[in-house]
Amino acid sequence: MAGLGAGTTLAIAWPIALAALHLGWTEHGLQRQAGSAWTDGSGEGFKLARSSRWLADWYQVYRPGSSDSVLPLGEKRLLPSWVATPARPPDGETAESVTSVDTAAHGWPWRCLASESWTVKVMQVHPTSAGGGYREVLKGSLVLGRTSRGRTIMPLRPIWPGLLADTVAWGAAWFVVLAAVSGARSLMRRRRGRCAACGYDRRGLGAGVACPECGGLA
Ligand SMILES: [Zn+2]
Repeated sequence: MAGLGAGTTLAIAWPIALAALHLGWTEHGLQRQAGSAWTDGSGEGFKLARSSRWLADWYQVYRPGSSDSVLPLGEKRLLPSWVATPARPPDGETAESVTSVDTAAHGWPWRCLASESWTVKVMQVHPTSAGGGYREVLKGSLVLGRTSRGRTIMPLRPIWPGLLADTVAWGAAWFVVLAAVSGARSLMRRRRGRCAACGYDRRGLGAGVACPECGGLA
């Protein structure tokens, strides 16, 4: 039952990522809206843009421009714990070089797998060369393909509470469905005078006599 639950959890979380392109979704292409903001312990400001669909959420944490207000403060507590922030940069990068982090989370009813797209400022190699650019660092992501409409990305970073909750919920749903199917089948067999367990024809056998086929009594 746990296997069925886990399988259903993954089937829902992954095909959503795979189907995203056909539905016009981009996994890490969130448009920045007027986001809420907070400052971290060092007084540095961050802003948040988010987007949600039925089966997925996107959270983008980014450094505000010089004209952006970072007030009001205190919004960080609204962030789910699985959202990556510049305070935890990818290996080999410093927090200062990160300009934005886009975390996508998939799964239903709880988000259970995440993928991250980090935008990192590339420092100028030589003072006279053209100013540096930006590059993307993907974490917890497997890029399956690219088309003109975007990428197909499978989220791979587990969100353990969600993964556990989805597995239990889908396992329980399968248990109810399979128990109902098995209960209905037993009832039908009994009504037809057959053994509820194996379907052997019990006509002619006494009520208390064990089934000759499987040893069942009903
Ligand atoms: Zn039987």
